[in-house]
Amino acid sequence: RTYKRFMQCRLDIGWLCNPLLAIYESLIPTEEEKVKQKQLLALLEKLVNKEWPEARLYIYGSCGNSFGVRNSDIDVCLEIQSGDIDKSELLLKLADILQSDNLQDVKALTRARVPIVKLMDPVTGISCDICVNNMLAVVNTKLLRDYAQIDVRLRQLAYIVKHWAKSRAVNETYQGTLSSYAYVLMCIHFLQQRRPPILPCLQELDTTYSVIVDDVRCAYFDQVEKLINFGTRNKENIAQLVWSFFHYWAYQHDYTNTVISVRTGHLLSKQSKDWTRRIGNDRHLICIEDPFDTSHDLGRVVDKFSIRVLREEFERAAHIMQHDPNPCATLFEPF
Ligand code: ATP
Ligand code: MG
Repeated sequence: RTYKRFMQCRLDIGWLCNPLLAIYESLIPTEEEKVKQKQLLALLEKLVNKEWPEARLYIYGSCGNSFGVRNSDIDVCLEIQSGDIDKSELLLKLADILQSDNLQDVKALTRARVPIVKLMDPVTGISCDICVNNMLAVVNTKLLRDYAQIDVRLRQLAYIVKHWAKSRAVNETYQGTLSSYAYVLMCIHFLQQRRPPILPCLQELDTTYSVIVDDVRCAYFDQVEKLINFGTRNKENIAQLVWSFFHYWAYQHDYTNTVISVRTGHLLSKQSKDWTRRIGNDRHLICIEDPFDTSHDLGRVVDKFSIRVLREEFERAAHIMQHDPNPCATLFEPF
């Protein structure tokens, strides 16, 4: 009976769709902003190509993967055959080139984990980070963007989850919680696992796109326009999906033994990845396999303390979705 009531509750939350969708709509960047981003990229390309005609610039991260919220900074990757100059020198040179134009606050951060040049464009008001030869991030950005085109419920769910994570302060990798990239992978995996599935597993389908980046072969089916009806047999609405997502991570996920894997569309065992014990600082307390760099656990930033914070937040969210009369207000209450 309890289970029946539980399911009933989940089915009765259709009224929550509109308020959740209103939040989603309010987070989507405007067309005007997209135009400004392109404008800035074109300016940067012009400046970079004057010095390095062969170099190319790519947008990656949330501005390129279609999970970016309004007014966010843009992440740009410079692809360049650097020959014998090292990355730091390259970044200092890049900063020099950009400084001489009208760009503001140009700074080379050569000692960061991912070394970058930061800048602000006074014309568009957009801030930007430029990294060098981080092509795996460019390719995983394309993968996420391709998934987003298959079923709109992915974008809706991921925006809501990201907004929740930012509001609740569990989107801070330096404090041991998860990156936005990790949350989007959790959403994709979750939708691959619905029955009937809402998303396919693109890396298990025929290869139509294949590149080798840092010795890793990145291959998958990228003709996603052929898959736009993939999820239509599943009728779940966004309220049910948000409800189920939080319930999954609060009560159903087996943190002790399993790894979520977008690459395979399934759960894997920690044993099969040899992620069963702490190695150095990697504790594997929540395991999220990177779709291309499969030795990389995006949960490795999570420690003994932050795993509790995370799980308590999942439980809080699940509880609110089930019992709160005004879930949209409470769910996103600032921490
Ligand atoms: P936000 O809206 O919070 O800025 P974002 O999509 O830009 O979200 P980030 O977590 O800042 O997400 O990551 C930017 C990009 O860098 C990701 O899209 C991904 O391509 C790459 N990335 C981030 N973290 C990792 C990681 N741990 N391993 C591999 N790639 C990563
Ligand atoms: Mg970003």
